Amino acid sequence: MKRRATRAAAFPSGARIFQRMFTRLGCQGRPPRFLAEFYPYANLTHTIRLLEDTAHVRLSDVFRDAPLAVLEATAAILLARVYRRRAAREFLETYREFALHHGTRRRVTHMRRKRARRALSHPHGAQHNLELLFEQLNSRHFAGKLRRPRLGWSARPWRTQLGCFDPALDQIVLSSRLDREFVPQYVVEYVLFHEMLHVKHPIKRASCGLQSHSAEFRRQEKRFPLYDRARRFLNRLG
Ligand SMILES: [Zn+2]
Repeated sequence: MKRRATRAAAFPSGARIFQRMFTRLGCQGRPPRFLAEFYPYANLTHTIRLLEDTAHVRLSDVFRDAPLAVLEATAAILLARVYRRRAAREFLETYREFALHHGTRRRVTHMRRKRARRALSHPHGAQHNLELLFEQLNSRHFAGKLRRPRLGWSARPWRTQLGCFDPALDQIVLSSRLDREFVPQYVVEYVLFHEMLHVKHPIKRASCGLQSHSAEFRRQEKRFPLYDRARRFLNRLG
């Protein structure tokens, strides 16, 4: 049999656990039919989606071997979210303790590394070579002293995000949306330069998506020679 691409794993006791917690939380109405599985999310993520009379539940596959109490706590927290109940403090604590446990965190980091690497394609894109651009920007703006993290294009084009530096994975990824012929090199350089500034001014969390940049960061960013033109191009790109 062909393996499913997502590689979700069965969670046979999941339905019963969720039913039980549904009752314990005092959720209103008829309980939905629970379909539960373990899912290889890139992070410690769990989701629940209610579609008509079925609740689709996915717990991070890091929780596959979690003790029953932890699975129950996770179910309670997810149900509380959808049914606007309050999960008892004991559940939050049980969950937290397990999630922050050294072994769990190590597994999450290990898994994220593996999965992130898989999502990354070669730095020599179809149009733009990130390694080459990195070296040029490094000597031009950082006196050649910036340490080079792993570089790559995203395996799929990202919609809203142009680039990301993840310090935990030590990698810069640019959206493959920018690896196109009509995207001028200075635009790719600008986005890469922005992420390189994040390498220079590390913050703990990944600098992906919308996050505030310090005034100093913005000041340094404007040193990029074609800053205004690059921003205009990216705004038009939408
Ligand atoms: Zn940024």
